[in-house]
Amino acid sequence: MTVVGFIGLGHMGGPMCAHVIDAGFEVSAFDLDPAAVEQVTGAGARARAAGSVADCADGAEILLTSLPGPRQVDQVLNGPDGAIAALTPDALVIELSTSSLEVGRRALAAARARGVSIIDAPVAGQTIGAQAGTLAIYVGGDLDAFERALPVLRAIGDPERILHVGEHGSGYAVKLLLNLTWFMHAVATAETLAVGVRAGVGLDKLHHALVNSPANSNFLQRDVRMLLDDGDYDAGFPMKLVTKDLALAVDLARDVGLPVEMTALVEQIHRRARAGYGDAAGELSAIRLYEDLAGIELRWPKGPSDQPAASQSPRPS
Ligand code: NAD
Repeated sequence: MTVVGFIGLGHMGGPMCAHVIDAGFEVSAFDLDPAAVEQVTGAGARARAAGSVADCADGAEILLTSLPGPRQVDQVLNGPDGAIAALTPDALVIELSTSSLEVGRRALAAARARGVSIIDAPVAGQTIGAQAGTLAIYVGGDLDAFERALPVLRAIGDPERILHVGEHGSGYAVKLLLNLTWFMHAVATAETLAVGVRAGVGLDKLHHALVNSPANSNFLQRDVRMLLDDGDYDAGFPMKLVTKDLALAVDLARDVGLPVEMTALVEQIHRRARAGYGDAAGELSAIRLYEDLAGIELRWPKGPSDQPAASQSPRPS
Protein backbone atom coordinates (compact mmCIF):
# COMPACT_ATOMS: atom_id res chain seq x y z
CA MET A 1 0.00 0.00 0.00
CA THR A 2 1.57 3.29 -1.13
CA VAL A 3 1.58 5.99 1.57
CA VAL A 4 0.55 9.36 0.10
CA GLY A 5 0.80 12.82 1.69
CA PHE A 6 -1.45 15.63 0.40
CA ILE A 7 -0.82 19.31 1.23
CA GLY A 8 -3.29 22.03 0.17
CA LEU A 9 -6.93 20.97 0.43
CA GLY A 10 -8.72 23.93 -1.17
CA HIS A 11 -11.21 24.06 -4.03
CA MET A 12 -9.00 21.81 -6.17
CA GLY A 13 -6.93 19.92 -3.57
CA GLY A 14 -9.90 18.92 -1.37
CA PRO A 15 -11.74 16.92 -4.05
CA MET A 16 -8.47 15.61 -5.54
CA CYS A 17 -7.41 14.30 -2.12
CA ALA A 18 -10.82 12.66 -1.66
CA HIS A 19 -10.33 10.79 -4.97
CA VAL A 20 -6.86 9.62 -3.88
CA ILE A 21 -8.39 8.29 -0.63
CA ASP A 22 -11.21 6.60 -2.59
CA ALA A 23 -8.64 4.94 -4.87
CA GLY A 24 -7.38 3.06 -1.80
CA PHE A 25 -4.14 4.90 -1.00
CA GLU A 26 -3.15 5.41 2.62
CA VAL A 27 -3.30 9.21 2.92
CA SER A 28 -2.11 11.83 5.39
CA ALA A 29 -3.48 15.30 4.68
CA PHE A 30 -2.53 18.83 5.72
CA ASP A 31 -3.79 22.38 5.16
CA LEU A 32 -3.38 25.61 7.12
CA ASP A 33 -7.18 25.58 7.41
CA PRO A 34 -8.22 22.89 9.93
CA ALA A 35 -11.76 22.81 8.48
CA ALA A 36 -10.34 21.75 5.09
CA VAL A 37 -8.42 18.92 6.79
CA GLU A 38 -11.52 17.84 8.71
CA GLN A 39 -13.52 17.79 5.47
CA VAL A 40 -11.27 15.16 3.86
CA THR A 41 -10.26 13.16 6.93
CA GLY A 42 -13.51 13.19 8.92
CA ALA A 43 -16.64 11.08 8.69
CA GLY A 44 -15.12 7.65 8.26
CA ALA A 45 -12.57 8.57 5.58
CA ARG A 46 -9.50 6.33 5.72
CA ALA A 47 -7.10 9.24 6.05
CA ARG A 48 -4.93 10.78 8.77
CA ALA A 49 -4.98 14.49 9.67
CA ALA A 50 -1.35 15.66 9.74
CA GLY A 51 -0.33 18.42 12.17
CA SER A 52 2.18 20.22 9.93
CA VAL A 53 3.85 20.16 6.51
CA ALA A 54 6.74 18.11 7.90
CA ASP A 55 4.38 15.71 9.69
CA CYS A 56 2.47 15.18 6.43
CA ALA A 57 5.66 14.50 4.46
CA ASP A 58 7.11 12.21 7.12
CA GLY A 59 6.79 8.61 5.87
CA ALA A 60 5.08 9.59 2.60
CA GLU A 61 6.29 7.68 -0.47
CA ILE A 62 4.44 10.10 -2.73
CA LEU A 63 3.63 13.70 -1.73
CA LEU A 64 1.09 15.84 -3.60
CA THR A 65 0.83 19.62 -3.26
CA SER A 66 -2.02 21.85 -4.52
CA LEU A 67 -1.24 25.39 -3.36
CA PRO A 68 -2.30 28.89 -4.43
CA GLY A 69 0.92 29.90 -6.20
CA PRO A 70 4.74 30.07 -6.29
CA ARG A 71 5.16 31.74 -2.88
CA GLN A 72 3.27 28.98 -1.06
CA VAL A 73 4.91 26.22 -3.13
CA ASP A 74 8.34 27.63 -2.26
CA GLN A 75 7.47 27.84 1.43
CA VAL A 76 5.91 24.38 1.65
CA LEU A 77 8.53 22.51 -0.39
CA ASN A 78 11.81 24.39 0.02
CA GLY A 79 11.73 25.98 3.46
CA PRO A 80 13.88 24.68 6.35
CA ASP A 81 10.71 23.17 7.88
CA GLY A 82 9.48 22.24 4.43
CA ALA A 83 8.34 18.98 2.94
CA ILE A 84 11.45 18.09 0.92
CA ALA A 85 13.62 18.20 4.06
CA ALA A 86 11.18 15.84 5.80
CA LEU A 87 10.78 13.29 2.99
CA THR A 88 12.81 10.10 2.89
CA PRO A 89 15.17 9.64 -0.09
CA ASP A 90 13.37 7.85 -2.95
CA ALA A 91 10.11 9.70 -2.22
CA LEU A 92 8.32 11.38 -5.16
CA VAL A 93 6.77 14.87 -5.10
CA ILE A 94 3.89 15.58 -7.51
CA GLU A 95 3.46 19.37 -7.58
CA LEU A 96 -0.06 20.10 -8.88
CA SER A 97 -0.22 23.90 -8.45
CA THR A 98 -0.10 26.47 -11.24
CA SER A 99 3.32 27.84 -10.29
CA SER A 100 6.53 29.31 -11.71
CA LEU A 101 9.46 27.61 -13.41
CA GLU A 102 11.79 29.52 -11.09
CA VAL A 103 10.32 28.03 -7.90
CA GLY A 104 10.18 24.69 -9.71
CA ARG A 105 13.93 24.86 -10.37
CA ARG A 106 14.61 25.57 -6.69
CA ALA A 107 12.46 22.63 -5.64
CA LEU A 108 14.22 20.38 -8.17
CA ALA A 109 17.64 21.33 -6.77
CA ALA A 110 16.49 20.77 -3.18
CA ALA A 111 14.90 17.45 -4.12
CA ARG A 112 17.96 16.19 -6.01
CA ALA A 113 20.20 17.07 -3.05
CA ARG A 114 18.13 14.68 -0.94
CA GLY A 115 17.62 11.90 -3.50
CA VAL A 116 13.92 12.81 -3.85
CA SER A 117 12.20 12.85 -7.28
CA ILE A 118 9.85 15.65 -8.32
CA ILE A 119 7.52 16.36 -11.24
CA ASP A 120 5.47 19.47 -12.02
CA ALA A 121 1.92 18.39 -12.81
CA PRO A 122 -0.43 21.40 -13.00
CA VAL A 123 -4.04 20.65 -13.77
CA ALA A 124 -6.84 22.10 -15.90
CA GLY A 125 -10.57 21.52 -15.77
CA GLN A 126 -11.76 23.70 -12.90
CA THR A 127 -13.40 22.62 -9.66
CA ILE A 128 -15.98 20.65 -11.65
CA GLY A 129 -13.18 18.53 -13.11
CA ALA A 130 -11.54 18.14 -9.68
CA GLN A 131 -14.83 16.91 -8.23
CA ALA A 132 -15.45 14.54 -11.13
CA GLY A 133 -11.86 13.25 -11.20
CA THR A 134 -11.54 14.21 -14.86
CA LEU A 135 -8.81 16.85 -14.81
CA ALA A 136 -6.28 17.32 -17.60
CA ILE A 137 -2.74 17.07 -16.19
CA TYR A 138 0.44 18.40 -17.87
CA VAL A 139 3.53 16.70 -16.48
CA GLY A 140 7.12 17.94 -16.69
CA GLY A 141 9.97 15.75 -15.41
CA ASP A 142 11.71 12.41 -15.85
CA LEU A 143 9.72 9.69 -17.61
CA ASP A 144 10.35 7.14 -14.87
CA ALA A 145 8.98 9.56 -12.24
CA PHE A 146 5.97 10.20 -14.51
CA GLU A 147 5.29 6.47 -14.77
CA ARG A 148 5.63 6.08 -11.01
CA ALA A 149 3.10 8.92 -10.54
CA LEU A 150 0.52 7.50 -12.96
CA PRO A 151 -1.52 5.38 -10.50
CA VAL A 152 -2.10 8.47 -8.32
CA LEU A 153 -2.64 10.80 -11.28
CA ARG A 154 -5.25 8.39 -12.71
CA ALA A 155 -7.24 8.82 -9.46
CA ILE A 156 -7.66 12.56 -10.18
CA GLY A 157 -7.38 12.93 -13.95
CA ASP A 158 -8.88 11.78 -17.23
CA PRO A 159 -6.48 9.00 -18.40
CA GLU A 160 -6.68 10.35 -21.97
CA ARG A 161 -5.51 13.80 -20.85
CA ILE A 162 -2.65 12.94 -18.46
CA LEU A 163 0.17 14.13 -20.71
CA HIS A 164 3.92 13.96 -20.26
CA VAL A 165 4.97 17.19 -21.99
CA GLY A 166 8.75 17.28 -21.44
CA GLU A 167 11.49 18.02 -18.93
CA HIS A 168 11.09 19.70 -15.53
CA GLY A 169 9.14 22.96 -15.88
CA SER A 170 7.40 21.94 -19.12
CA GLY A 171 4.17 21.14 -17.28
CA TYR A 172 4.07 24.62 -15.74
CA ALA A 173 4.90 26.19 -19.12
CA VAL A 174 2.13 24.32 -20.97
CA LYS A 175 -0.46 25.16 -18.32
CA LEU A 176 0.46 28.87 -18.29
CA LEU A 177 0.43 29.09 -22.09
CA LEU A 178 -2.90 27.28 -22.30
CA ASN A 179 -4.49 29.80 -19.93
CA LEU A 180 -2.75 32.74 -21.64
CA THR A 181 -4.10 31.74 -25.06
CA TRP A 182 -7.62 31.31 -23.70
CA PHE A 183 -7.60 34.74 -22.02
CA MET A 184 -6.26 36.30 -25.24
CA HIS A 185 -9.30 34.82 -27.00
CA ALA A 186 -11.53 36.35 -24.34
CA VAL A 187 -10.19 39.87 -25.02
CA ALA A 188 -10.28 39.43 -28.81
CA THR A 189 -13.87 38.17 -28.65
CA ALA A 190 -14.96 40.98 -26.32
CA GLU A 191 -13.55 43.66 -28.60
CA THR A 192 -15.05 42.11 -31.73
CA LEU A 193 -18.53 41.59 -30.31
CA ALA A 194 -18.68 45.00 -28.60
CA VAL A 195 -17.57 46.87 -31.74
CA GLY A 196 -19.94 44.84 -33.96
CA VAL A 197 -22.96 45.48 -31.76
CA ARG A 198 -22.13 49.20 -31.52
CA ALA A 199 -21.88 49.21 -35.34
CA GLY A 200 -25.50 48.07 -35.40
CA VAL A 201 -25.11 44.34 -36.16
CA GLY A 202 -27.40 42.06 -34.09
CA LEU A 203 -25.37 39.97 -31.65
CA ASP A 204 -26.97 36.73 -32.88
CA LYS A 205 -26.25 37.55 -36.52
CA LEU A 206 -22.68 38.62 -35.76
CA HIS A 207 -21.99 35.52 -33.68
CA HIS A 208 -23.48 33.20 -36.31
CA ALA A 209 -21.42 34.81 -39.09
CA LEU A 210 -18.17 34.63 -37.12
CA VAL A 211 -18.69 31.02 -35.99
CA ASN A 212 -19.20 30.04 -39.64
CA SER A 213 -16.12 31.90 -40.85
CA PRO A 214 -12.36 31.33 -40.77
CA ALA A 215 -12.31 33.54 -37.63
CA ASN A 216 -14.12 30.88 -35.56
CA SER A 217 -12.62 29.62 -32.28
CA ASN A 218 -13.64 27.29 -29.44
CA PHE A 219 -13.94 30.37 -27.27
CA LEU A 220 -16.36 32.09 -29.66
CA GLN A 221 -18.37 29.00 -30.48
CA ARG A 222 -18.52 27.41 -27.04
CA ASP A 223 -16.93 29.14 -24.06
CA VAL A 224 -18.42 32.64 -24.37
CA ARG A 225 -21.90 31.11 -24.60
CA MET A 226 -22.41 31.01 -20.83
CA LEU A 227 -22.23 34.81 -20.89
CA LEU A 228 -24.32 35.33 -24.03
CA ASP A 229 -26.92 32.76 -22.90
CA ASP A 230 -27.11 33.37 -19.16
CA GLY A 231 -25.10 36.47 -18.24
CA ASP A 232 -22.71 34.20 -16.32
CA TYR A 233 -19.13 35.51 -15.94
CA ASP A 234 -18.05 32.14 -14.43
CA ALA A 235 -17.02 32.80 -10.83
CA GLY A 236 -15.82 29.16 -10.65
CA PHE A 237 -12.41 30.55 -11.64
CA PRO A 238 -11.97 33.93 -9.91
CA MET A 239 -10.05 36.94 -11.25
CA LYS A 240 -7.56 36.61 -8.39
CA LEU A 241 -6.33 33.32 -9.92
CA VAL A 242 -6.72 34.58 -13.51
CA THR A 243 -4.34 37.50 -12.90
CA LYS A 244 -1.95 35.28 -10.93
CA ASP A 245 -1.70 32.91 -13.91
CA LEU A 246 -1.33 35.73 -16.47
CA ALA A 247 1.43 37.37 -14.41
CA LEU A 248 3.22 34.00 -14.37
CA ALA A 249 2.89 33.85 -18.18
CA VAL A 250 4.54 37.30 -18.43
CA ASP A 251 7.31 36.02 -16.11
CA LEU A 252 7.75 32.94 -18.29
CA ALA A 253 8.30 35.09 -21.39
CA ARG A 254 10.78 37.24 -19.46
CA ASP A 255 12.50 34.06 -18.28
CA VAL A 256 13.11 32.96 -21.88
CA GLY A 257 14.08 36.49 -23.00
CA LEU A 258 11.25 37.17 -25.46
CA PRO A 259 9.35 40.45 -25.73
CA VAL A 260 5.62 39.64 -25.73
CA GLU A 261 3.61 42.82 -26.18
CA MET A 262 0.25 41.13 -26.55
CA THR A 263 0.74 38.94 -23.46
CA ALA A 264 1.60 42.02 -21.39
CA LEU A 265 -1.42 43.92 -22.68
CA VAL A 266 -3.83 41.04 -22.10
CA GLU A 267 -2.47 40.65 -18.56
CA GLN A 268 -3.06 44.36 -17.86
CA ILE A 269 -6.62 44.24 -19.23
CA HIS A 270 -7.46 41.38 -16.88
CA ARG A 271 -5.78 43.24 -14.01
CA ARG A 272 -8.04 46.20 -14.75
CA ALA A 273 -11.08 43.90 -14.67
CA ARG A 274 -9.97 42.48 -11.31
CA ALA A 275 -9.45 45.99 -9.90
CA GLY A 276 -12.89 47.04 -11.10
CA TYR A 277 -14.99 44.00 -10.26
CA GLY A 278 -13.07 42.38 -7.39
CA ASP A 279 -10.88 39.36 -6.66
CA ALA A 280 -13.83 36.98 -6.67
CA ALA A 281 -15.34 38.20 -9.96
CA GLY A 282 -15.70 35.55 -12.67
CA GLU A 283 -13.04 34.72 -15.25
CA LEU A 284 -15.01 36.38 -18.10
CA SER A 285 -14.93 39.76 -16.32
CA ALA A 286 -12.60 41.29 -18.93
CA ILE A 287 -15.57 41.08 -21.32
CA ARG A 288 -17.59 43.12 -18.83
CA LEU A 289 -15.04 45.95 -19.21
CA TYR A 290 -16.00 46.22 -22.89
CA GLU A 291 -19.70 45.92 -22.13
CA ASP A 292 -19.43 48.80 -19.66
CA LEU A 293 -17.35 50.90 -22.06
CA ALA A 294 -19.82 50.33 -24.89
CA GLY A 295 -22.88 50.69 -22.65
CA ILE A 296 -24.27 47.34 -23.81
CA GLU A 297 -24.83 43.84 -22.47
CA LEU A 298 -23.67 41.04 -24.75
CA ARG A 299 -26.80 38.86 -24.49
CA TRP A 300 -29.01 37.22 -27.08
CA PRO A 301 -32.02 39.26 -28.13
CA LYS A 302 -35.08 38.73 -25.93
CA GLY A 303 -37.75 36.33 -27.16
CA PRO A 304 -37.67 32.80 -28.59
CA SER A 305 -34.08 32.00 -29.51
CA ASP A 306 -32.96 29.86 -32.40
CA GLN A 307 -29.41 29.70 -31.01
CA PRO A 308 -27.97 26.16 -31.01
CA ALA A 309 -27.24 24.61 -27.61
CA ALA A 310 -23.67 25.22 -26.44
CA SER A 311 -21.60 22.04 -26.18
CA GLN A 312 -20.64 20.91 -22.69
CA SER A 313 -16.90 20.44 -23.26
CA PRO A 314 -14.76 21.02 -20.17
CA ARG A 315 -13.55 24.54 -19.44
CA PRO A 316 -9.81 25.10 -19.78
CA SER A 317 -8.84 26.93 -16.58
P1 NAD B 1 -7.50 27.43 -2.91
O1 NAD B 1 -7.06 28.77 -2.46
O2 NAD B 1 -8.93 27.06 -2.86
O3 NAD B 1 -6.70 26.29 -2.10
C1 NAD B 1 -5.37 26.41 -1.70
C2 NAD B 1 -5.23 25.75 -0.34
O4 NAD B 1 -3.86 25.80 0.06
C3 NAD B 1 -6.04 26.48 0.76
O5 NAD B 1 -6.90 25.55 1.40
C4 NAD B 1 -4.97 27.02 1.70
O6 NAD B 1 -5.36 27.02 3.07
C5 NAD B 1 -3.84 26.04 1.46
N1 NAD B 1 -2.53 26.58 1.81
C6 NAD B 1 -2.01 27.79 1.49
N2 NAD B 1 -0.77 27.92 2.00
C7 NAD B 1 -0.51 26.77 2.67
C8 NAD B 1 0.59 26.31 3.42
N3 NAD B 1 1.69 27.07 3.60
N4 NAD B 1 0.53 25.08 3.97
C9 NAD B 1 -0.59 24.31 3.80
N5 NAD B 1 -1.67 24.69 3.12
C10 NAD B 1 -1.63 25.91 2.56
O7 NAD B 1 -6.94 27.28 -4.41
P2 NAD B 1 -7.45 26.23 -5.51
O8 NAD B 1 -8.55 26.85 -6.31
O9 NAD B 1 -7.67 24.90 -4.86
O10 NAD B 1 -6.18 26.18 -6.49
C11 NAD B 1 -5.03 25.44 -6.14
C12 NAD B 1 -4.07 25.51 -7.33
O11 NAD B 1 -4.69 24.94 -8.49
C13 NAD B 1 -3.68 26.95 -7.71
O12 NAD B 1 -2.32 26.96 -8.07
C14 NAD B 1 -4.60 27.26 -8.88
O13 NAD B 1 -4.05 28.23 -9.77
C15 NAD B 1 -4.69 25.90 -9.54
N6 NAD B 1 -5.92 25.71 -10.33
C16 NAD B 1 -7.12 26.15 -9.86
C17 NAD B 1 -8.27 25.93 -10.61
C18 NAD B 1 -9.62 26.41 -10.14
O14 NAD B 1 -10.57 26.38 -10.91
N7 NAD B 1 -9.77 26.82 -8.88
C19 NAD B 1 -8.18 25.26 -11.85
C20 NAD B 1 -6.95 24.79 -12.28
C21 NAD B 1 -5.81 25.01 -11.51
